Amino acid sequence: MSTTTLNSGKFRPPFFYDVAVVGAGPAGSMAALALAKKGLKVVLLEKSPLPRYKPCGGGVTLRALRLLPAEVLSTVQDTCHLIEIHLPSKKLSFKLQWKQPLIFMVMRQHFDYALTTEASRQGVRVLSPCRLLYLEKGRSFIKLKTTKETILSKFVVGADGALSRVARTLNFTPCNYLAPALQAELRLSQSELARYRGIARFDLLFVPGGYGWVFPKKDIISVGVGRMSPGRINLNKCLKDYLQFLGLETPRPKLIRGSVVPVRPRKGAFVKGRALLVGDAAGVADPFTGEGISHALTSGLMGAHAIFEGNLRPDDVKKIYEKMLRSTLLRELRWARIPCLWFYRNRKLGELVFQIFAKSLGSAMAHIISGKGAYSKVLANPLTYLKIDPVFRDEVAE
Ligand SMILES: Cc1cc2nc3c(=O)[nH]c(=O)nc-3n(C[C@H](O)[C@H](O)[C@H](O)COP(=O)(O)OP(=O)(O)OC[C@H]3O[C@@H](n4cnc5c(N)ncnc54)[C@H](O)[C@@H]3O)c2cc1C
Repeated sequence: MSTTTLNSGKFRPPFFYDVAVVGAGPAGSMAALALAKKGLKVVLLEKSPLPRYKPCGGGVTLRALRLLPAEVLSTVQDTCHLIEIHLPSKKLSFKLQWKQPLIFMVMRQHFDYALTTEASRQGVRVLSPCRLLYLEKGRSFIKLKTTKETILSKFVVGADGALSRVARTLNFTPCNYLAPALQAELRLSQSELARYRGIARFDLLFVPGGYGWVFPKKDIISVGVGRMSPGRINLNKCLKDYLQFLGLETPRPKLIRGSVVPVRPRKGAFVKGRALLVGDAAGVADPFTGEGISHALTSGLMGAHAIFEGNLRPDDVKKIYEKMLRSTLLRELRWARIPCLWFYRNRKLGELVFQIFAKSLGSAMAHIISGKGAYSKVLANPLTYLKIDPVFRDEVAE
């Protein structure tokens, strides 16, 4: 792909924008798209050539899917009606079937590119590959020095992931914990793939303080492990053991890649002067599941809303964005840390909770990822715990 891509032709110097968005992941493309729809002049910078690879299970929950423009839905490669939850240490498992599919499987390079293309179609200028090098604060604009050109912008959206350069340059408080995750993409024959189709599998506590997953795609399966709670871990060994446990250890073509998921939000400000953070840059992934796409999209939309409603005035944007974040996403993330304490802090407690409450909590999780419920509602509701329903082997909960 050529260097300057997607809708770049009609723009001429001086490169002055209402908003410069850094990072073309789900958070950045969603924010750019929403801002362009409001009529703002937007540039989106991405350091990698597009479409870019992103190590990710590519599990898009129903609540995330609902936020997406129709054009992106064609990138879904498998639809999971069934969720299998296993506790390998006790040889327990149950199956969760919902009225609607709960998880939709995508390859991130196609999914993210479809969203970026949609932003471009709405008038966003997309620059790729174009890396942000540093930012300089001015009174009425920010200057962005990039590998391609210098950009002046009234506002900057930092959507540049867990290791955000925008956040580091502007001295935002660091994220408290970046959860490591590693996955293998295994190419299987169609007959081998058939047994994985339509099923999202989780093996809780296979990894200390975390879990393993198997997500099916069109030609591959994504098998991964992640540690959600702080602590030392050799993820390479965990992944090898997990593949062996699943009977997938025989040599076959595989791509192994890892990264981090910010499962503790930044403390303090999310807006500083003319810059605002969204998605992984803000640290808003779910601490229990590591699901980050949904909150990346939501925070991208909230950031765009605040910039527009605040009329690009830093104080107003800050007031609107931080109020929205605190009353919704950040509140949810605090509640989501409760199941982390049960399952990830102490293996014995996690196993006990699984045996007693797994099915009711599984059903509660289905409400949450479908977008119909919230951690704050289901965990605060005594009925969730009164439905004590012990798990035996190979059960089906509907
Ligand atoms: C192994 C693994 C598996 C995962 N599986 C799932 C899953 O199944 N479901 C789920 O919901 N979440 C999953 N996540 C989490 C999810 O991938 C992230 O939360 C999500 O990608 C966050 O989106 P984002 O737009 O905030 O950031 P990103 O998707 O990371 O996008 C940031 C973008 O910014 C660009 N960038 C960075 N620095 C610069 C710079 N200086 N200049 C220009 N561009 C820059 C990057 O190249 C990147 O394209 C997983 C994470 C990992 C590590």
